[in-house]
Amino acid sequence: MTFLPASADEPVAPAVRLRPEILASPPYRQGRPATADAFKLSSNENPFPPLPGVLDAVAASGAINRYPDASALALREVLAARRGVSTEQIHVGSGSVALLSQFIDAAAGPGDTVVYSWRSFEAYPGLVTVSGAASVQVPNRADGSHDMEALAAAVDDTTRVVIVCSPNNPTSTTVSAAEFDTFMAAVPSDILVLLDEAYAEFVTDPDAVRGFPLLARYPNLVVLRTFSKAYGLAGLRVGWAIGPAPILDAARAAAIPLSVTEAAQVAAIASLELEDELLARVSRLTARRDRLAAALSDQGWNLPKAQGNFVWLATGNETDVANEALLDGGIVARAFPGSGIRVSVGEEESVDKLLPITSRIVELLPAGHPARRLG
Ligand SMILES: *Cc1c(COP(=O)(O)O)cnc(C)c1O
Repeated sequence: MTFLPASADEPVAPAVRLRPEILASPPYRQGRPATADAFKLSSNENPFPPLPGVLDAVAASGAINRYPDASALALREVLAARRGVSTEQIHVGSGSVALLSQFIDAAAGPGDTVVYSWRSFEAYPGLVTVSGAASVQVPNRADGSHDMEALAAAVDDTTRVVIVCSPNNPTSTTVSAAEFDTFMAAVPSDILVLLDEAYAEFVTDPDAVRGFPLLARYPNLVVLRTFSKAYGLAGLRVGWAIGPAPILDAARAAAIPLSVTEAAQVAAIASLELEDELLARVSRLTARRDRLAAALSDQGWNLPKAQGNFVWLATGNETDVANEALLDGGIVARAFPGSGIRVSVGEEESVDKLLPITSRIVELLPAGHPARRLG
């Protein structure tokens, strides 16, 4: 008798009874690791190395034999002071994915639904499944943006949470402030709306929704932010939520205790102290994004207006072929078979490497393909 499967490739049925909806869930796949000379543009990471001041703060935090502050009070104080709210109106989690999970678990369970646009952030379906609730996915418009009217129309008696992602991962589109207001007016005020603003710092469109000023207006709105993208702390896992204290208390009750490490808390505080330097980097990335988007458009790509630190190539049925061409050329992007390819805005040299390949790919797309510009 052996405890190991005969072959690592052969799926083995578990010996214990597990939840059928969990067994049916595909395991998370992080995409192919980058080879030594390839650019990893598959996870929307910040290409800049950590600032020395942030590294120093982490090194000085030291005491890893001690538990962190469970409520991340020092970080919440800094965030609360900046936003002019109380510390109870700020909640910190080990990445905003953890926060999403907590809010969904706090509001929805078996028999309930969670409504969101699709395609959107890959983590949403799995988090909803784990909560026991069911997903209601509302198709994006043809340009990859959220269909906010359809999203509001999908809300019914079973809905407990609606997630709005602006800029949307992976299409990089934003919801406008006007669309968001109309949507909030249509959604009953006892349904939690999570506005996932993981890429807010990269938004340059003045018409895009901005969550913070709306919090005073909507008692059912929670805004999610992260230090992973613009602030470059993806590896340390720290994100935060701002919203009504009673809703945040419910998320705190659904959290795994002590999961935000001391290193993450001090790195976030140091990053806020060095914000000018970090936001200057963000400006360089948004300028690089706009140059990349303009160059792709010149090549003949029909791109959704990119507002995150990534662009979306809607390659559809040509996705596998296009992704092979990128991989062969040393670009590791995030491909969604049958749908499209998300390419992060990385190092300047990555753009130089990317553009000759995308130029060849767009030429290979059949005439009339949605990713090709007309004329
Ligand atoms: C990256 C991302 C997050 C959060 O990431 P964390 O590293 O968990 O903070 C949340 N939402 C979207 C849409 C993202 O793309």
